[in-house]
Amino acid sequence: QKPFDPKKRTVVVLGSGWGAVSFLKSINTDDYNVMVVSPRNYFLFTPLLPSCTVGTIELRSIMEPIRFITQHKSRNVKFYESECTDIDPESKTISITDVSDIKGSVSNTTVPYDYLVMAIGADNQTFGMAGVREFACFLKEIWDAQKIRTRLMDCVESAGFAKQAPEEVDRLLHMVVVGGGPTGVEYAAELHDFLKDDLEVWYPELADKFRITLVEALPNVLPMFSSQLIQYTESTFKQNKIEVLTKTMVKEVADKEIKVMDANKNLVSIPYGLLVWATGNCPRPLARKLMARIKEAQTSPRGILVDDYMRVAGAPDVYAIGDCTFSKYAPTAQVATQQGLYLASVFENLARMEEGQNKKITPFEYSHQGSLAYIGSDKAIADLPFLNGNVSVGGVATYVFWRSVYISNMFSFRNRFLVVGDWMKSKVFGRDVSRE
Ligand code: FAD
Ligand code: NAD
Repeated sequence: QKPFDPKKRTVVVLGSGWGAVSFLKSINTDDYNVMVVSPRNYFLFTPLLPSCTVGTIELRSIMEPIRFITQHKSRNVKFYESECTDIDPESKTISITDVSDIKGSVSNTTVPYDYLVMAIGADNQTFGMAGVREFACFLKEIWDAQKIRTRLMDCVESAGFAKQAPEEVDRLLHMVVVGGGPTGVEYAAELHDFLKDDLEVWYPELADKFRITLVEALPNVLPMFSSQLIQYTESTFKQNKIEVLTKTMVKEVADKEIKVMDANKNLVSIPYGLLVWATGNCPRPLARKLMARIKEAQTSPRGILVDDYMRVAGAPDVYAIGDCTFSKYAPTAQVATQQGLYLASVFENLARMEEGQNKKITPFEYSHQGSLAYIGSDKAIADLPFLNGNVSVGGVATYVFWRSVYISNMFSFRNRFLVVGDWMKSKVFGRDVSRE
């Protein structure tokens, strides 16, 4: 690989998720020096994260070291495992901090950029509700899936403890999921499979005590899917004995129970053993800090405002893609990936224009490839664009399609191999119920 060239412009990329990696894979490093800053040194294939919470897939099977991606570039790409804590668009510098446990003599510094690409994703939305961060588990990162898996088995073993009080057994084996978006639905689905296929076999004395409840504030789950697939999901959940409480909003979170406002406007207590919180996204502290710095241009509290060319309003030479932005697009991997690809092509055109070539930069256009979700007992749902219309399908065949789409979307053969191996392993031997 060629070294950094002081005559070339430097592009600093913040993040190692969907948007950043898609950009990195496509950016032409013959034209630019590229540097990546992210607190995690790997890419995470989020669509299969719910499967990791119950051990259908192992965590490392959906992680890809960032250096695997950067090693294929023509010029050396610098990677700093650190968090960007501040962006100064005037001096065109960022502040970075080593947030890992082990530090050297330097753990804070500033880095200059010519162009900055923000792909920092989003934080978990809690609406500032006390108790959520303390008692609930999120489902966004590797450590979240790990925590859920450990807590779930802890609940099961504590429920089986000698002379456990019957009401405590009921509480400990009640798994509550808040948020009926795709994250909450897919997690409830995976949990159902784990209970049916494994826990009821390994813990027959507790088999009739396991319960799953999904709490959703809106009148139905999965508002982004067609009404036919919403009904199909709700009836599949009913068959699978997953209780779906719609028009029910969580108001308070304590260590052993949540309080919800139910559909009849009554405040009701729901005791739980495991609480998984999946109520969507909100901006990360870094995004909020930048937005406050340039508040005349950044008028939405919901995310960084960008124009159709992914340029951050009010910050020249700063671009933002993916979940950290607030735009007409949903915060999905599909959108972040297409924006990363688009931005790499913008940089390619900028380089050619500097050489005197006649190039035009066109605005970003999103092409929706469809929505997919796993709903349990080997069934998935899919809304797919077809001949200017939409096809809605659900069932076991869709599940086979769901698997093949995700396998083909993985970035490396290694990940594909590991995931297929995990699927086979859990089919043959069942999922592992050891508590880590
Ligand atoms: P991310 O992928 O979240 O990456 C953000 C990166 O920024 C991370 O590397 C992070 O460590 C880094 N970072 C954070 N703070 C800083 C900082 N201060 N400085 C530097 N770096 C920082 N979408 C789909 O389209 N299909 C699906 O099936 C699907 N399934 C999903 C399942 C789950 C469980 C979840 C949680 C999400 C799913 N999504 C899916 C949504 C998808 O994961 C997100 O839309 C996507 O990750 C957004 O990409 P991003 O690059 O914007 O952010
Ligand atoms: P979401 O925003 O899609 O859904 C959150 C849900 O929580 C909403 O339906 C909301 O009404 C509900 N909610 C909010 N506050 C509540 C409260 N106090 N009590 C009860 N319910 C409450 O969030 P998500 O599911 O985490 O998804 C985030 C993004 O990631 C979305 O864009 C989604 O499309 C994407 N994603 C996609 C997939 C997939 O395609 N299979 C999977 C996971 C996530």
